[in-house]
Amino acid sequence: MKKVDIAVIGLGAVGSAALFFLSKSGKKVLGLDRFDPPHFMGSSHGETRITRLAVGEGKEYVSYAKRSQEIWKGLESETQNRLFNPCGGILMDSGITPWGKHGGDGFFEKTVGIAKSCSIPHSTWKSGELKEKYPQFQLEDSGKAYFEPSAGLVYPDRIIRIQLELAQQNGAEIKVYAPVKSIYAKQDSIILELKESQIEAKRVLISAGGWIKDFLAKEERPDYKICRQVLHWIEIEDGYSHYNESPVFMWGFGRKPEDFIYGFPTQDGKSVKMASESFLETTHPNNMDRSISKKEQEIFWNEKVEGRICGLKNQFLKSEVCLYTVRNDSKFVVKQLPTVPGAMMVSACSGHGFKHSAALGEELAGRILFSC
Ligand SMILES: Cc1cc2nc3c(=O)[nH]c(=O)nc-3n(C[C@H](O)[C@H](O)[C@H](O)COP(=O)(O)OP(=O)(O)OC[C@H]3O[C@@H](n4cnc5c(N)ncnc54)[C@H](O)[C@@H]3O)c2cc1C
Repeated sequence: MKKVDIAVIGLGAVGSAALFFLSKSGKKVLGLDRFDPPHFMGSSHGETRITRLAVGEGKEYVSYAKRSQEIWKGLESETQNRLFNPCGGILMDSGITPWGKHGGDGFFEKTVGIAKSCSIPHSTWKSGELKEKYPQFQLEDSGKAYFEPSAGLVYPDRIIRIQLELAQQNGAEIKVYAPVKSIYAKQDSIILELKESQIEAKRVLISAGGWIKDFLAKEERPDYKICRQVLHWIEIEDGYSHYNESPVFMWGFGRKPEDFIYGFPTQDGKSVKMASESFLETTHPNNMDRSISKKEQEIFWNEKVEGRICGLKNQFLKSEVCLYTVRNDSKFVVKQLPTVPGAMMVSACSGHGFKHSAALGEELAGRILFSC
């Protein structure tokens, strides 16, 4: 049986970061993934992710977002790859009804409050001021906007690839297409059951994203919802240039968490990637419907884009399915598995985790090494 000091199950955003930091320790470290990351089956694909420092989801996450930006900037210089584009970020609130997002009402006010209390440079604008600077957003006159220059976008696939490459250079081993079926404690070790083999590890990190429920006790599984998300790339009108240098944007326009859109500056000069959020519980990631109908695109255009976002044609160049793993309070969970001493799990961060993933991976690696 293969023996290692530390095994990481799942090498997406969090697992690849943890593996990278663990690989610096000189311990025998092994990363396993059911696919070949970065891939299109989990929660970390689709070209770009927003990063922002005033994290309206909770002040406790600000330091993770800040540290992750530092780590990515370090990796940029080390590898000469562009991982982070600090293009700034705008948060808009239509001001019509109280707008809740990611576990609570008043997301706009929470964001501004956190920016103030954590001394994060920012501006707040009335609707007219926003439209003067960024006419692509037809915010209602009742609306308000928050601008954070330190926000921006990151490239998740590149980040995962680089974290895994560097981990391998440091001596970590990676096994792809190696789904772990289960784990159990055996004396002072942990046994990982794969399809045709077993691995013995002293410590295990389970960072399996949307598959996390496969490792949880039955009674804990209802705490995590797997929610299907759809990303759309919408064609820009000929000659419309406002998406070239645009900040990333988020816009809440109603009471329901689904009354929300976000988007990015164009990456290809032809389209803008935009999405909303869905908090409907769907199914296990292996059974997720990954096809997108014309009807879904029509609904997105009619209910979310038309009349709000200018300079786009009702033409979808492509759409992709991704998945959130959501808790009701939108918080992350990091904990020891009660039934398997030495095994730690991290949940997939309720749809806002990428911006924290590098720092979270670093912290998890530190905790595991401390316990070894
Ligand atoms: C559409 C969308 C938009 C988002 N936008 C943002 C954003 O703008 N900003 C932001 O901060 N966050 C955003 N998020 C959230 C963020 O992307 C996720 O929180 C984060 O990527 C989750 O990372 P993870 O490592 O937990 O999961 P993943 O990256 O999915 O990794 C889990 C890995 O575990 C592997 N695995 C699963 N089961 C097993 C097993 N049994 N054995 C071996 N391997 C296994 C999987 O193959 C996968 O590679 C978004 C998410 C989605 C879906």
